[in-house]
Amino acid sequence: MRKYSAFAVAREALRHHKGWERAWTSPEPKASYDVVIVGAGGHGLATAYYLGKNFGITNVAVIEKGWLGGGNTGRNTTIIRSNYLQDPSAAIYEKSRSLYETLSQDLNYNIMFSPRGVIMLAQTHHEVRGYIRTAHANALQGVDTRFIDKHEVKKLVPIMNIEGPRYPVLGGLWQPRGGTARHDAVAWGYARACSDMGMHIIQQTEVTGVRREGGAVSGVETTRGFIGCKKLGIVVAGHSGVVAEMAGFRLPLESVPLQALVSEPIKPCMDVVVMANTVHGYLSQSDKGEMVIGGGTDSHNNYTQRGSFHHIEETVRALIETFPMLSRLKMLRQWGGIVDVTGDRSPILSKTPVDGVFINCGWGTGGFKAIPGSGWGFAELMAKGHSPLTAEFGMDRFKEGRFIDESVAAGVAH
Ligand SMILES: Cc1cc2nc3c(=O)[nH]c(=O)nc-3n(C[C@H](O)[C@H](O)[C@H](O)COP(=O)(O)OP(=O)(O)OC[C@H]3O[C@@H](n4cnc5c(N)ncnc54)[C@H](O)[C@@H]3O)c2cc1C
Repeated sequence: MRKYSAFAVAREALRHHKGWERAWTSPEPKASYDVVIVGAGGHGLATAYYLGKNFGITNVAVIEKGWLGGGNTGRNTTIIRSNYLQDPSAAIYEKSRSLYETLSQDLNYNIMFSPRGVIMLAQTHHEVRGYIRTAHANALQGVDTRFIDKHEVKKLVPIMNIEGPRYPVLGGLWQPRGGTARHDAVAWGYARACSDMGMHIIQQTEVTGVRREGGAVSGVETTRGFIGCKKLGIVVAGHSGVVAEMAGFRLPLESVPLQALVSEPIKPCMDVVVMANTVHGYLSQSDKGEMVIGGGTDSHNNYTQRGSFHHIEETVRALIETFPMLSRLKMLRQWGGIVDVTGDRSPILSKTPVDGVFINCGWGTGGFKAIPGSGWGFAELMAKGHSPLTAEFGMDRFKEGRFIDESVAAGVAH
């Protein structure tokens, strides 16, 4: 595949853009592969990429029932941070954040990583104590964060009202190298690199069953027939329980809608990402100028990719107290995704009771930021049977009571 470069842009401009190659191919499925990944979201594609890049395993197919990146990867609010409390979480999220720093160069694809900084507002004394504790933990973990007072918050975000009537801003946990990236580009960049290594990305093909022989996986049934494989990675986010059931095991998680919305575009007014976990809303400004807004999950399980209306009202109402200017903006679009949430709000990257079947799921409301790190660790787990990055995230932790409790630590985990 030809590299993208300034020279290529100039050359194609002179040739009226007739020489660009397709970013990835759409081949017919082969009868079998060494590895099949179900789900062409960021995590599935990143897993395939690092299987090829780090372990030379390229006889790989990524099977997607819709279009690549059409699940949560293309629906999230793109917040990237690694300021988690527990050591295993900080390790995988910081690995991920550091891979994001150079991902555009690595993939030769501009993913528009923007390390503009993330503030998590402390709006109760409990939160102040919690975030000071997280800042101390992060210092030990090698994650660059610090607790800042309300005046520093105001300096970073002048449009914020820090003297709100219900929840005044008392300070915040500041991660200067957190930020955002273009979510579609992350999926497209990985897909292009996988295709370039000879891997097959098979879209519009649903996995409908998992075939086992003698306790081990032998392949998957799909809407385009049977495809054999030696190893299978299930990486389907909100549909993890459904595909796991096909393989014959159950998962300790729930699937719920999470939604986001964007305003009309306005002039640049906020150049950091703000999360307000007490009132439960978060906000950033996209490169187009839209204010990107997210809130919490619906309380009921479903698969509709919409989310309920009262949540939009609650999220915007909560944010208006801290950002009064939002009340004058028109909202343009709203959408939802189905996220898979575990009891301890930490993911599952694990072997399963079926030999050769691996599961990567449970990223819930916060897995976009984890895509490179998760792909790196999960590829190692699939290739070698063990990875230091994923070791603590096995399914058995729920049986053994070894929770990695980020629900208390993060409150909201975007
Ligand atoms: C509104 C919203 C806001 C969010 N905000 C943030 C944020 O700011 N920061 C952050 O870090 N995270 C955020 N997240 C979470 C993040 O988007 C997800 O954790 C992450 O994208 C999960 O990626 P994935 O690759 O596992 O799943 P997906 O991108 O959902 O990919 C899974 C794929 O599997 C496919 N699939 C399912 N079943 C089958 C089948 N049977 N056969 C074949 N294919 C199948 C689906 O079509 C889908 O494309 C947000 C999520 C939502 C919905």
